[in-house]
Order: sequence, then structure tokens, then C-alpha cells
Amino acid sequence: MANQTVKCSTPTKSTNYSISKVRVIVRVRPFLFHEISGKNDDPKPCISVLDQECESSSEEVAVYLKDKDTSRNECYRLDSFFGQEDNNVSQIFYREVSPLIPGIFRGYNATVFAYGATGSGKTYTMQGTDEDPGLMPLAMSTILTMCQSTGSTAEISYYEVYMDRCYDLLELKGKEIAVLDDKNGQIHLRGLSQVPVKSMSEFYETFSCGIQRRKVAHTGLNDVSSRSHGVLVIAVSTPCGDGSEAVVTGKLNLIDLAGNEDNRRTCNEGIRLLESAKINQSLFALSNVIYALNNNKTRVPYRESKLTRILQDSLGGISRALMVACLNPGEYQESVHTVSLAARSRHVSNFVPSSHKLETPKVRMDMEAKLLAWLDSRGKTKSAQRIGPFNSPFTSKTLGSLSSVKKASVYPSSVKAKGSTKQGASKAKERFAPVPFINLNNNEGLADACLETGEIADKSNIEAIEASADGIVPVSNTFLPDQLCPALFEPVTPQRPCILKSPNKSEMVGPSLDKFHARSSNLKTSLIQEYIGFLNTASKEELLELKGIGLKMAEYILELRETSPLKSLSDLEKIGLSSKQVYNLFSKAARGIFDRLEDSSPSSSDIYKLNQ
Ligand code: ADP
Ligand code: MG
Repeated sequence: MANQTVKCSTPTKSTNYSISKVRVIVRVRPFLFHEISGKNDDPKPCISVLDQECESSSEEVAVYLKDKDTSRNECYRLDSFFGQEDNNVSQIFYREVSPLIPGIFRGYNATVFAYGATGSGKTYTMQGTDEDPGLMPLAMSTILTMCQSTGSTAEISYYEVYMDRCYDLLELKGKEIAVLDDKNGQIHLRGLSQVPVKSMSEFYETFSCGIQRRKVAHTGLNDVSSRSHGVLVIAVSTPCGDGSEAVVTGKLNLIDLAGNEDNRRTCNEGIRLLESAKINQSLFALSNVIYALNNNKTRVPYRESKLTRILQDSLGGISRALMVACLNPGEYQESVHTVSLAARSRHVSNFVPSSHKLETPKVRMDMEAKLLAWLDSRGKTKSAQRIGPFNSPFTSKTLGSLSSVKKASVYPSSVKAKGSTKQGASKAKERFAPVPFINLNNNEGLADACLETGEIADKSNIEAIEASADGIVPVSNTFLPDQLCPALFEPVTPQRPCILKSPNKSEMVGPSLDKFHARSSNLKTSLIQEYIGFLNTASKEELLELKGIGLKMAEYILELRETSPLKSLSDLEKIGLSSKQVYNLFSKAARGIFDRLEDSSPSSSDIYKLNQ
């Protein structure tokens, strides 16, 4: 909405109040030196743009993401694409940001976000370096030039939203700012500094002090990971030109969002984990707002987070907004996550690029067909078809020490993102013992050993789960789907669990134990599938009946699945949960099943008798 300090006699804005959509573009950063050297001298990016292959409108581009290690792929329609070769931020500026600036001089607001995972290049895109200035200095410079010809004045504010609180970064002590609604529903940041800027040297002087105050910390993925959303506001006051003192004010918000984080990779814990959960929640709230705006929903959920509440007057309505989705070329899963949240309604479903059609191994197709046929005969096809391959390993966080908070340098070029993915994963593996075997003489065993308090203990188990969910049976667990005990696919209403058929204890060593272990793994896979199927189809009331799901979460799930049905448990992280929280949620639901079965199930003494 346009802001008018003193009302202009001549209206300067259009009376056409159609809601503007949020433009979503992609920027893929180049591979960094340490990502190239050592393992692969010529790494291929997992993101590319397709020439008109799957798009309907020439205004859009089809962005194709492909995992080089598996045949997983996704395609999204987006507004524009800037690949590794378009390394210079100025291209994005001239094509995407500078068209927003004249409107600021006419009293309109606009917002530019850099969105993406930690280490994907958001700060680089917004702040830039001495050699390659980012969108913030480029916008400031253009605005200052235009101020000279229009007689306008510019002021900047710089604040951060950290853990849902707002802090002034141009104040010495980073004073907390109260966010207030006035009686017209307008948001005010009480006491936020506004510093007049007449030249780029003044801008740099003020802005670099603010950058130093921003909360950053070392994480497993970036030495100076931004833990807050940093918002630079350039407010421009332009004389109305009617000879009076009246001015019209428009503002440009340039936002370096905190990175959405996959805590399986960051090794976050303690405060870092809490920060991360808040970051992911607020990013999901932002994604909800963008989704509502781009899909002409009558209700736009601005009030779901502090950030969207503050930006209410600069997002939607007659304001214009641009989302720059920043991607790391070597991270498929992370990129899919970023793009799917930035462009939720623009997924190209059923997209099979011709060059990749033959990549699915025949054996896998056979297994899938068999599994589907079998499930069909069990009346399960519907839910089985909904469930795609499991997207990512569901590893637990590691127990690294609490990271210390570091000061940011003015420009990110002086620091290197840390390539600790592999390290983190191997550390995690070292720290956890394999899944304990289940004690059949104890009727709590199955639930507890499979669903240990939010942690999956061993990666081999995870691989088994993923493989069997994909229809591929792991080598050590060579069951064909039609050899599986039907009860493994009926976890909710077992007449008598398969495990009770084990003839005696002596058979629980060696191959039988392997078999049992494999079946437990299949049971868990099946349970996860049922759970995801349920989350994708249940009504709000039904969701609320599930242990661990409250009203807000039920609403988030409904919203999320509307555009991207859940394929794996890790998709629940899109609503701001950590991987541990997701797993705890599933564990609670799974335990609930066993609780309900308690009355009808055989007691531990019955089980003991059966094993005699
Ligand atoms: P984020 O803010 O998303 O966490 P950064 O902007 O800090 O990520 O970028 C991570 C690392 O990648 C930094 O070392 C940065 O210098 C480098 N980087 C990002 N984008 C580019 C680019 N376009 N060209 C060269 N290096 C880049
Ligand atoms: Mg950053």
C-alpha cells in the first residue's frame, strides 16, 4: 500500500487494485572451490532449465532438478532462471529489480527476498562483494541517482527478525522494536531508526555497521550462517509536484532471509536447533502468504509470523514482490525443498523428461509393478500410489557441541561455506549403535525397538526403509512383496502379529533373526506409508485425533498437502518441524496404535507361551 506522509492533492497511484503476484526466480550459485577440488573436478549442477519442454506459457521457464545419484527428478514452472554462468548479480538487478524502482517514487512499496538453504548464496546475492555488488547496494545506487532528477530524498532502516522478535540494526545496541497495529490495521515499527542517505559512501558507512550487528553463527554448513531475517528498507519521499510541501513515500524492502535448514545436515543442537525451528516456521508462513497471493485466495495468512505481519503493507495488494530462490548446484534435496516452497503451486506433476525415461532400472519397475499388484489385491493401491519414493535419509542429529556466535564480516566473500555434509553424516553414524534387536518376550519390544524416541539409530536401517519403500528390497532382506506376511501391511488391525509365529527361541539367531529384522523393517516402512497416506487424506478432525497433532499443525498439514502431497516423513519438515520432531510425531502415532491394541493383543505371558 502506498504511504503518504502529507497527502498529495494529485493521486499518484493507479486505481487498479488487482492483487499482484509474487514473481519467483531461481539463482544457482557456482560450485565453490572446495566443492570442486578433491572429489570431482567437473561437477554437474543438479538444476537446469528446460527449453520450453514442459511449459505452457512462454513467460515462464521450466526448471528441472535431477539427483545424479538416483533417478529422482522434479520440474517447476518459474518466472526466470539465472544459472551458474550468469554469475553477475547485476543481471538479476537490471532484469528483475530495477523495474520495481520507479514505482517506489510514485508511492508504491516493493519487496525483494533472497530465499534458500544456508550456504546457497542469499547473502552474496543481497549484499554482494566489492567486485560484485549485491542487490542492496545496486538498488541504493539506482535510487540515489533517481533522487537527483526527481528531488526525492532517501532514508534507510535496517532491522532483523530473530526468533520472532524485531531488532534495529542501526542502533548501537540492536534495540528491540515493538511491532504495533494502528486502528486502520497498519503496522508500525515503533522507534525504528531511519537514516537519511545522500551518497553511496554514506550508505556503506551506515549499512556495514548494521551488518556487523546481525546475528550470525557458525553452523555445519556455513561459517557465518545468518540466524535472522535481515531487512533493509529504502524509503523514498518524492514531492508531489503540486507546489505544496506534500510528499509521497514508497519503500523498497530488500530481505536476506535466514536459511531454511535441514537439521540432519547442520548438526544443530540447543539454541541453534531452536533458532532453526523458528526460522523454518517463519519461512513456511512466508510460503503460505506467497501461495495465497499467487492463487488468489481470499484469506492471506499474514499474521502467522512476525515477518509476514511486518511485511503486510509490502506484500500483495498493489505492492510488487520478487522472490529470488537461491540454490546450491550440488544439493538436490535441498534445492527441491527450496523451490517447492517458493513455488508451491507451480509444480509440474507427471513430468518425465525424455532423456531420462529409460533410466529407471527394469528390475525396479518389476518390483514396483509386483508390489502394486499385491497391494491392489489387498485393496491398498490407492494409498500406495500416493506414496512416492522416500526422498531423503531420515538421520538423527548428532551431538556436536554448542556453536559459538561469530561476528560477520561486511562481505561474505571473505568467508567460505563449510562443506561438512559428509563429515556430519559419518560422525552421526559413528555415534549411534545399530538398532537393538527386539525381545520377543516383552510385548513392548516391537514398538520400542522400532520407534525409539525420535531417533533412527542406524543408517543401514534407513537404507532398508528407503529401499523397500521404493520397491527395491535390500540385498540382505531378500523378500519379494508377495512373500511378505500380510500382517506387515496391516499394522492397524493385525489379528495376530506375524512375529508370534516364530517357532522357538533357538530359531531367533542366524537367518531367522535376519528375517525377523527385515520384517520389522518392512513393518515400519508399511506403518510410515500408512501414516503418510493418512496425513494426505484425513480431514482436520481426523488429524486432530492422532496423537501429537494439534490444531495449528493440522492446519499446516492441510495447507501443505493441497499443493504438494506428502511423499515421505521428511516432507513434514516443510511445516517447520525438525527431523527429530517429525520422527517423534510419527512415534507418538505409532505408539497410539499399540496402545489401542493392548486390550485385544495377547499379553506378554501369552507371547511367552507361544514361544515355548
Ligand atoms: P547464504 O547466505 O545463503 O547462507 P552465502 O551468501 O553466505 O550463503 O554463500 C555461501 C558461500 O558461497 C559464500 O562463501 C559465498 O561467498 C559463496 N557464494 C555464494 N554465491 C556466490 C556466487 N554467485 N559466486 C561466488 N561465490 C558465491
Ligand atoms: Mg547468509
